[in-house]
Amino acid sequence: MKNKLLGLAACLLALVLAVAAPLALPEHRTKPRVHQHRGALPEAPCTNPEDGGLCTYLPIVEIDTGGVTIPGRPIHSEEGTTSYVLAEDGQTTIAAQMKVIGTDTGEYHHANGTPDVESSVRIRVRGNSSRSFDKPSYAIRLVDAEGGNAPQSLMGMDAHHGWVLYGPWLDKTAVRNYLFYNLAGELMDYAPNVRYCEVIVDGEYQGLYLLAETITAGKNGARLPLEVSARGRTYSGYLLRLDHNLPETRSLRSFTEYTYIQDEALSLQLEFPGEKNRSEELEQQIRQDFSDFEKALYSYDYDREKYGYASRIDVDSFVDYFILNELAGNVDAGNFSTYLYKGTDGLFRMCVWDFNNACDNYFEAELGHEGFFMPWRLWYWMMMKDEDFTSRIITRYRQLRRGLLSEAALDQYIEETEAFLAPALARNDARWGDVALQASALLQPAGRNLTSRGAAEGQLKGYLHNRGAWMDDNIETLRQYSAPSHVKKFNEVND
Ligand SMILES: [Zn+2]
Repeated sequence: MKNKLLGLAACLLALVLAVAAPLALPEHRTKPRVHQHRGALPEAPCTNPEDGGLCTYLPIVEIDTGGVTIPGRPIHSEEGTTSYVLAEDGQTTIAAQMKVIGTDTGEYHHANGTPDVESSVRIRVRGNSSRSFDKPSYAIRLVDAEGGNAPQSLMGMDAHHGWVLYGPWLDKTAVRNYLFYNLAGELMDYAPNVRYCEVIVDGEYQGLYLLAETITAGKNGARLPLEVSARGRTYSGYLLRLDHNLPETRSLRSFTEYTYIQDEALSLQLEFPGEKNRSEELEQQIRQDFSDFEKALYSYDYDREKYGYASRIDVDSFVDYFILNELAGNVDAGNFSTYLYKGTDGLFRMCVWDFNNACDNYFEAELGHEGFFMPWRLWYWMMMKDEDFTSRIITRYRQLRRGLLSEAALDQYIEETEAFLAPALARNDARWGDVALQASALLQPAGRNLTSRGAAEGQLKGYLHNRGAWMDDNIETLRQYSAPSHVKKFNEVND
């Protein structure tokens, strides 16, 4: 009898596990997030005499353009417009060869070492204001002999064709993007993978860079679960980006744009499928699909389970995006560089990008550590009117502040990363000069321009201490946005 009961219990347990176990998790959710700075480091100093001018436990990226200037630097006209330097043949990118030497931080790598990866690439300078920095960032596409995408795994990250070599300049800690992409990678279904490396262009050492994968669809379950049929006729999933509305911008013109709910300075663009892989008809379908979502959100039924927004989004993704960007004081979030995708499961999710100016690192003025901004962002403005949504933000915030986002955890993460980067930053500063002179007058007022790596680390930790303490004291005030008196006019139909 006892055995029978045990057997029955085992069967029940198996059944419960089978039901509870995630059946088809995308690959990127089953892989633990890699935090490069926590990898093993070499135990002894390097004894290799053949250093080739560079000896580092970070991977090395060598780019060979054959001496051609990499295009993409800004040209500012007298009329105040900005254009970008083109290649000699009129294209925005040039062809180059790229080698990546080393993956593992447990050993030393040398500029003359055997490459782990070699590829032809197309390369250009990327960014907005950062295009004019002495140390530029680059956009790189791995290509085959015909110029088509040729994805490869770099530094242990999933194979991909599109990468950004981000050269920290304004962020004198060099950790902002690494820190917040990796925190997002622990919390959210997807966040761009990142690895630090050191870069050599045409034989000349260029210092510390962060290699990040661009946000787009991926093969074999990597990256975003998005697909488009070969002829661009049908899709399951797409990627959108909200950003500056520039003259050359091709807007999707969804519901919130043609109803003027969206700020005119913003433009929502279709990122995936790209222009070459979509028909006019497909673009129209996607515009309709996203407009349906926005209409549901901005309708009086927005908080009804069956018709409302909550059945169309992964609420956790929107909650975590809110919390990470608020904690970082990343006030561009929800306006610029704002990525949102619809996965093959039919749900919308947010994706983090660009924390370069976060934690009080904007040019114009000191922002301070008080106040919320996400409640005024396009889609959030309506979601915040739903009590369930504000409650979930508050509950999740409190939970994360006891763990991953606690003051102690953030301090430790920053300190460990700075220690990990110290030798590379010393080489970087030998290349670019005294830290006090790098990005020396970009922040206003002038006193905000820090003069040492240590001072920059102190500013970052200090900001997060103050910001976190302020949010701990004020997170409950988010309830005012969903208070019955505040949202009455939106709920009249339901009452
Ligand atoms: Zn060495």
